[in-house]
Amino acid sequence: MKIIAGVDEMRAESALLRRQSVSLALVPTMGALHAGHLALVQEAKRRADAVVVSIFVNPSQFGAGEDYDAYPRMLDADLEQLADLGGVDVVFAPSAAGMYPDGPAAQRSVVSVGRLTEHLCGAYRPGHFDGVSTVVLKLFNICAPTIAVFGRKDAQQFLVLRRMARDLNLGIEVVGIPTVRENDGLALSSRNTYLTAEERKQAPVLFRAVTAAENSIQAGERDGAAVRRVMEACLGESSLAKVQYAEVVDADELQPVSELVPSSEVLAAVAVFFGSTRLIDNVFVTVPARTSDNPG
Ligand code: AMP
Repeated sequence: MKIIAGVDEMRAESALLRRQSVSLALVPTMGALHAGHLALVQEAKRRADAVVVSIFVNPSQFGAGEDYDAYPRMLDADLEQLADLGGVDVVFAPSAAGMYPDGPAAQRSVVSVGRLTEHLCGAYRPGHFDGVSTVVLKLFNICAPTIAVFGRKDAQQFLVLRRMARDLNLGIEVVGIPTVRENDGLALSSRNTYLTAEERKQAPVLFRAVTAAENSIQAGERDGAAVRRVMEACLGESSLAKVQYAEVVDADELQPVSELVPSSEVLAAVAVFFGSTRLIDNVFVTVPARTSDNPG
């Protein structure tokens, strides 16, 4: 496993890997690796001949007052986990100065994925998705993957990046893998370490809320507002949870839906604060077809 910090060195290494391998998978992360990240790496290994994992806490996707400085950084422990897992060819861990030589604010070229960033997290984190899509395009250009693997835990991020790859003809297959969870349903996240014991105890309420949304849709609910109310009621059972949003959107353009269309795919998603810690969760649901649509 090579560890590379330099952008030019990484570019040379990926050119070499591409000469030797048919397929190259990139797994972009911000480090503080947990079993969710390792599941992405396993998927990358299954799908590609060579695997690059990037570790970069990207300043341009954090807003003012967000946790850029506090975000956990533990490169040595991350490298140990990846070495133990095996099968990773390169870890690309650039510095902020390497990625943004004149500082992130001097980056003049920015990728925006428009409509898909208007709602959900995009409504509350201005500039966040521009920061994400721009840094991921930079990572794509440096690492030259044929496949990139992301978690559906960050559903809007996954859908935005998949759309960017399609819209800009990047020729990179963007793959999304299911959310890895604790036994009580809490989605693994590097930010879970911020939670107090009591907050941690209540945090599975996010999963219960999106599961309740899914169950209501499966049971025949077609009114978007009613599905939102199901999630809000569930989140309301937690004394410490402060709801930022509980939303149902179509899984294509990420627009709020008022009437759920049979056979369409929707995303039920929540963002909740526990103290200053912001957690998100979601579920993709294919709305059941009308019984009369079923043959026989
Ligand atoms: P992060 O380091 O939090 O930016 O995440 C890096 C990648 O790991 C993103 O594609 C995330 O969606 C994914 N990821 C984070 N947590 C999970 C999880 N619990 N299950 C699956 N993927 C995850």
